[in-house]
Order: sequence, then C-alpha cells, then structure tokens
Amino acid sequence: MCQKVYDIVAGVVSILKGLGVTGKNMFRKAVTIEYPFEKPAMTARFRGLVDLHPEQCIACSQCVKICPTAALQLEATTNPETRKKFPGVFTYNEELCCFCGLCQEVCPTAAIYLNQCYEVAYYRHDDLVKIDLLKADKYVHLAPPKVKELRP
Ligand code: SF4
Ligand code: SF4
Repeated sequence: MCQKVYDIVAGVVSILKGLGVTGKNMFRKAVTIEYPFEKPAMTARFRGLVDLHPEQCIACSQCVKICPTAALQLEATTNPETRKKFPGVFTYNEELCCFCGLCQEVCPTAAIYLNQCYEVAYYRHDDLVKIDLLKADKYVHLAPPKVKELRP
C-alpha cells in the first residue's frame, strides 16, 4: 500500500517537474528557425561557392596556381590596345573544390571570393563541373526560393 502511494506521489511530482520545464521555456525566444521557410543569413566569413568580379580580374593566374584541387581553369587574353590581360575563359569545378578559400586569400585584386550560397545542389552533373565564372547569372538558380512559393 505504502509503495503504491509513494509511486503515485513520485509520478505527480515528475509530471509537475516536466510541466515546469515546459512552462519556463514556452515564452522564451526560439533558437531554431523554420527552415526552409526561413533562411539564415550567412556570416561574412562563410565559405560558399567560388564567385568572381570579372572586371577586377587581371588574369594573373595566382588563384589557379594555389588551388590545391585544380578546381579553377583560366585562359588569359590580352587587350591589344592597352596590353592588359583579362580572363577570356574562367571556369570553376565545384565538385573538386574543397572550399579552402586560398584563391580568395591570394588574389591581389579581390576579384575572386567565396560567396554566401549554401544550397548548392544541382540536378545535372555537367552543370556542377564547369561553372562559367564570367557569367553574371551563373548562380541565379541557386538563390533561395521565396518563402511564399515554398509554403503549402
Ligand atoms: S576554395 Fe580552395 S579548392 Fe576551391 S577553388 Fe578556391 S583554392 Fe580551389
Ligand atoms: S581572380 Fe585574382 S588571382 Fe585569380 S587570376 Fe584573377 S586577379 Fe589573379
């Protein structure tokens, strides 16, 4: 009999303790977000996909040389009038990239950088291995869809 009373009291105390924890946290600010309906903003130091400001590139090839995985391919061209070099072809293989950021560190003109993209899935393998860094809209399809489009 005594044991039964003890069990009932222990059960009630346990429930009250649980409810206390729930009550304490119910009105606290949530630390999680409703992904994918809410998208977290990445920090400035986040290493996303390799991106380029083509107008700043002087085709010096330093990024290509330092890349440990040969993920960058550059063909330099020279302007016959100004004798200045610029990138004629500049491609990036995301499959090979290890997101080390060395290309960004070594670039003398801050032309190449790692952007904030973190949803980087592709439907076709071919799209992943030869990304044209000179194209302005190369990553447009990776932009997060609008919340309204996602909500059922
Ligand atoms: S982040 Fe690293 S692996 Fe990727 S392209 Fe730049 S140097 Fe190469
Ligand atoms: S991105 Fe920077 S390091 Fe790479 S070729 Fe252009 S200027 Fe040189």
